[in-house]
Amino acid sequence: MSTFVHPFREGSKDQKDLLGGKGANLAEMTRLGLPVPPGFTITTDACRYVMHHGQNPPELADQVTAALEDVAQQIGRRFGDREDPLLVSVRSGAAISMPGMMETVLNVGLNDETVQGLAAQSGSERFAQDSYRRLLQMYGATVLGIEASTFEESLEAVREERGAADDAGLDAGALEEIVGRYKQIIERENGSPFPQDPREQLRGSISAVFESWNAPRAVIYRNAEHIDHELGTAVNVVAMVFGNLDERSATGVAFTRDPSTGEHGIYGDFLVGAQGEDVVAGIRNTRSLEELGEVLPDAYQELLRTMDVLEEHYRDLCDIEFTIESGKLWMLQTRVGKRTAAAAFLIATTLVDEGAIDEREALTRVSGAQLTRLMFPRFASGEREVLARGMGASPGAAVGEVVFDSETVIARAQEGHECLLVRRETNPDDLGGMLAAEGVLTSRGGKTSHAAVVARGLGKTCVCGAESLDVDPKAREIRMNGEVVAREGDVLSIDGATGEVFAGRIPVEPSEVAQYLEGDLAADDPRASALVRSVDRLMGVADEVRRMQVRANADTAADAQRARQMGAQGIGLARTEHIFLGERRAQVEKLILAGDPAEREEALAELLPAQRADFAGLLRAMGDLPVTIRLLDPPLHEFLPDLTDLSVRIARAEEAGRRIEPHERKVLAAVERLHEQNPMLGLRGVRLGLTIPGLFGMQVRAILEAELEVRADGGDPHVEIMIPLVGSVRELRAIRHEIDDVTEEVTAGAGDGAELTTRIGTMIELPRAALRAGEIAEAAEFFSFGTNDLTQTTWGFSRDDVEAGFFFTYKERGILSDSPFESLDQYGVGELLRIAAERGRATNPDLTLGVCGEHGGDPASIHFFHSLGLDYVSCSPFRVPVARLECGRATL
Ligand code: ADP
Ligand code: MG
Ligand code: MG
Repeated sequence: MSTFVHPFREGSKDQKDLLGGKGANLAEMTRLGLPVPPGFTITTDACRYVMHHGQNPPELADQVTAALEDVAQQIGRRFGDREDPLLVSVRSGAAISMPGMMETVLNVGLNDETVQGLAAQSGSERFAQDSYRRLLQMYGATVLGIEASTFEESLEAVREERGAADDAGLDAGALEEIVGRYKQIIERENGSPFPQDPREQLRGSISAVFESWNAPRAVIYRNAEHIDHELGTAVNVVAMVFGNLDERSATGVAFTRDPSTGEHGIYGDFLVGAQGEDVVAGIRNTRSLEELGEVLPDAYQELLRTMDVLEEHYRDLCDIEFTIESGKLWMLQTRVGKRTAAAAFLIATTLVDEGAIDEREALTRVSGAQLTRLMFPRFASGEREVLARGMGASPGAAVGEVVFDSETVIARAQEGHECLLVRRETNPDDLGGMLAAEGVLTSRGGKTSHAAVVARGLGKTCVCGAESLDVDPKAREIRMNGEVVAREGDVLSIDGATGEVFAGRIPVEPSEVAQYLEGDLAADDPRASALVRSVDRLMGVADEVRRMQVRANADTAADAQRARQMGAQGIGLARTEHIFLGERRAQVEKLILAGDPAEREEALAELLPAQRADFAGLLRAMGDLPVTIRLLDPPLHEFLPDLTDLSVRIARAEEAGRRIEPHERKVLAAVERLHEQNPMLGLRGVRLGLTIPGLFGMQVRAILEAELEVRADGGDPHVEIMIPLVGSVRELRAIRHEIDDVTEEVTAGAGDGAELTTRIGTMIELPRAALRAGEIAEAAEFFSFGTNDLTQTTWGFSRDDVEAGFFFTYKERGILSDSPFESLDQYGVGELLRIAAERGRATNPDLTLGVCGEHGGDPASIHFFHSLGLDYVSCSPFRVPVARLECGRATL
């Protein structure tokens, strides 16, 4: 018989997979001797059992009964007791936190009888009725699936009838009235009355939490955050403590540090006489935690001491949910807190300075994704009018069209519009809209509101609580003092750091971190902020510990320069096709149309000097760092007009009676001749070199002459020539012969002392090349994995079509969780990489191995490349800092 139930006193924070984050940390706090109400966790195993079998594990019911009995013993109250009932909360809690995504039911165990016992025991009829109506509301919405607004509207009606400003203004009579109405709603909507049996309430709540794992919003969230759908959630059953008991009771949330700066301080919100979700829901205006010191000084001091204990223990920023019952503090949740990207860096280095962690551990506390966020542009400074101010809840600069509901945001975003989701407050069903929007703006709620918490978790720009804005989703407009300031579709700009809202589109500029990473701001510059110094320090640690080198993909001298400033240690991929575009199109066309060898040679001779100049520029920009130049790769038709366009143009001209130039006919014939059904599998890469005499020879000559030229000027270039799309060693050998011939000619022509150090290698981007890597390595000095094409050819996916096509369905159906073009498929494509690396190194121990596909800048892929023992990754210049950081993290 398996054990599906663990009392808090038995678990620990390291059991997140089994107990979920909430359960594991409740157990940890219990072990630390902190005031946690007794309770137990039903494991994620049970949830997975339910997912697979469609019913609870048979032993669960008895185990829950026994655990509940144990809680009853500790509290001295029994579940369902008429005189003095034990009440519990039933709370979700997955291994990876999904804030606000799943369900919680409070006050389970109340019914028409026990509510009387609770009133008698507490001496407060109001408190008992308030607790009961909350249970009815949460149970009705969560377990029975009744629209939450039905309850809210009914509550509002009673509030109006009684002239109460908010829930706190409702007396016992009013609350009893609400209880009556809620019971009617449930009976009406559900077809049967609210279950009076506490055991049935408990069963229903537990099942509802399990089911909430697969609620649509939870699925969307997991897809967005790449969380495995198989994990399942745990369920925590916790003895209730009451923040709504009396004037000396309260509930709140707190952080041990400022989650946006990492500064030590008092940071949080609370409400007196309230329960649970009131704080997050933004229903009542919360009070800042500092005020708690005046209202409930003893509990406040206890809270501060507890926060110190937690920080000391977790050695990190923690966030906390607490409740005070008649002056006594209870801890209801803690976890290592979600934080902004900037705070992650600041907190990590602050903790090093405080001696809590060492620098290597600090490196594990930040990520490439966070660094990327810090490189996003910010609003340019300058005089401008602020339309409104809210709280900067999640930093970033977002510009977009005002949209009032999530569905519209999703639809508009799919059409390519940039939108801001503007709401009074968001709720969990807004997740899809938040993901699709550039930023989120709310008029209500604080830094711990749903919008703020979720946006921070997603790294989405958010301004919340801009109270001067009157957001009217029905009229689809925003008013201020009765005047319309924006209608749906109008553009606003929001600054998630300062909380400012601007009318219109504000220009953006590089962020401070981007300026630093691009070499425009030194870390020791007095203007540099603490954040830049912190980034600088952790980049230093990453550079020190990493084994893989980081190169950049760059085609021009300007790109190369930029890449170097960002820390690139070479160029892993210089594409030569860019060099063939623009003004040189005419010469390329001439080459393709050449009728005889003489014409072809003439065209090649015209291209040569331009190529040489381009290569020389690239080599000069990179000094003594390696530069890998790939010979021409794309199908030639890319340099010619489109077949359909051209045919239509000529047909129209003929119709209009215009004479068709012979040249036009020639181009059409060539386009027709080169047309292919599957150009990506057609005449490209090494196949071009083998079929068009002199083409690769010309490119190689340009490269070698550039090398000699730069060397003659005192430079020390390190050139690598890379042959694309090789599938057989014979292709490579044939091209190498041509390269050898050209090398001889060039050195002979240059006279004495001219020396070339050029290395020759190939891309591995076809499955056959990976499998035959052993023999290919005998003819290559390096391999560079072209993971884009390798993914394409391994899966048989056309990258240009599938990402906009059926991938959506694949993700929805759980076949793919990520696009294999964004994050390397480590099982399939990864296996080919492993085979190629092993076989290549076996025949050529000096072989250099690198990656030049998009995956070179993807954190998860980088960790995999490190594990294969590759020598370098190459990515776009802007990703270089991220790659440096992740290469460092991969070693820890
Ligand atoms: P979430 O995961 O959405 O934060 P929780 O399970 O933490 O949901 O529950 C939300 C809130 O309900 C908690 O922050 C706490 O204030 C309240 N709550 C949960 N359990 C209890 C309890 N046993 N006693 C009092 N309040 C509780
Ligand atoms: Mg919580
Ligand atoms: Mg390729």
